[in-house]
Amino acid sequence: MPAPAAIPVSSPWDGTVIGEVMAADAATVDRAVVTAQAGFQAWSRIPVKDRAQVLFRFKALVERDLKGLAALIARENGKTEAEAEAELRKGVEVVEYATALPHLGAGEFLEVSSGVDGWSRRLPLGVVAGITPFNFPAMVPMWMFPIALACGNAFILKPSEQVPLTPVRLGELLAEAGLPAGVFSVVQGDRETVGHLLDHPGVEAVAFVGSTPVAREVQRRAALAGKRALALGGAKNHLVILPDAEPDLTVANVVASVTGCAGQRCMAASVLVAVGACEPLLDRIVAEAGKVRPGIEMGAVISGTAKARIEAAIARAAAEGAAVRLDGRGAVVPGKAGGWYVGPTVLDRVKPEADCATEEIFGPVLTILRAATLDEAIGLVNRLPFGNAASIYTRSGGAAHRFAAGVNVGMVGVNLGVPVPREPFSFGGWNQSRFGAGDITGGDGIRFWSKLKKVTQRWPEDPGGGLPGWH
Ligand code: NAD
Repeated sequence: MPAPAAIPVSSPWDGTVIGEVMAADAATVDRAVVTAQAGFQAWSRIPVKDRAQVLFRFKALVERDLKGLAALIARENGKTEAEAEAELRKGVEVVEYATALPHLGAGEFLEVSSGVDGWSRRLPLGVVAGITPFNFPAMVPMWMFPIALACGNAFILKPSEQVPLTPVRLGELLAEAGLPAGVFSVVQGDRETVGHLLDHPGVEAVAFVGSTPVAREVQRRAALAGKRALALGGAKNHLVILPDAEPDLTVANVVASVTGCAGQRCMAASVLVAVGACEPLLDRIVAEAGKVRPGIEMGAVISGTAKARIEAAIARAAAEGAAVRLDGRGAVVPGKAGGWYVGPTVLDRVKPEADCATEEIFGPVLTILRAATLDEAIGLVNRLPFGNAASIYTRSGGAAHRFAAGVNVGMVGVNLGVPVPREPFSFGGWNQSRFGAGDITGGDGIRFWSKLKKVTQRWPEDPGGGLPGWH
């Protein structure tokens, strides 16, 4: 039997190797599932109010260790520590939601007929798995495991092989919070490890977050294997600017949306659609974006491969006739020669059918399109197969309402560049940004990680047993 493969972990800041993990083979995944099945037996019998107490303690521990966790996330992912802290706080929102499961997950009761009662109760599925991407080493796993655990499942996490260290630390904090052994575990590895999880008959459900081609394939394969499956994929989000947009807010917000996490967010601005006379706003956006310094206000991209791919996309756009108003290629950060940095980039005068206007770039690159009317802008949003997010900048309530109603996406922003819903509003896109049914957090998360038992009962009027005191 070949030895498990070692996967080096590098810091995008400077390219140094900061760790190593061993990829889980089929036997390792099988051991994780067997251990999780044993953990599930005890955990699922604990009342939900007591399971929630573990999550209360976990939230407190994440807050206690916020700085240390943020430093670890920043080091292995390449984002800034401030961005890493923000990601942890977003993850904690889902933990808070999960601690409310004793209230949110209450079943229903109804007298369904004369003398006949119906009642229902949510039960866990068993051993479930989450497969997560590199861009949010803590937050995306925290979209999944808090609700899954609160529901009573045992959870196996397969994080991105590019950011495998943070999830291990989260597991340690869950153990410190009192989660019994075996109920949460991390298996490391790449696509092969994912295959072992998808093939394992002991895994009842799989949630996935990552790129669209992989999301489509993972969801299909898991569903064919009889598992419950939900997979969130990639995106190409539009920001539509009307001429009446509030200038200061719009400029700051658009620049933050493009450059935050070096553009590696599934909710990041990617295409700006300028409606009518917006030239002064566009000039200011280009100028402000140019002030965001890689290695200071903006982190690195995840790998040398990602940097090369993003720079090639910029070169292709230029070759196809785009005006490169801001060029982030070849960014160098003093003292960090081995780091993988791309500076903010703005591509203007782009044709709607160009690759840079239609394909996910996943870097700090903004493509500008023009539209004569709001309806034309809505049409530009809706022509793409993705459906994660779209935002509008305007002071007109009527225009914002028309936009929110007209765009074919799951998450809409009004004067907000990254319209991530806050719990209890659930997170999830549409179309080819999501395969399977429902959102990943909120009420859909509870429904995804549980199954509903329905009981219909009738009792005779008289127990007939001559019980003492019964008349
Ligand atoms: P990715 O698809 O390359 O990897 C995601 C996970 O799948 C990783 O754990 C990886 O090990 C595994 N994987 C990779 N290739 C696989 C294969 N062929 N078969 C099975 N498993 C495989 O994604 P990434 O590069 O880590 O993350 C970036 C992508 O994730 C972007 O497309 C981004 O838009 C998307 N994303 C989407 C959301 C959302 O909510 N929709 C959130 C975050 C990231």
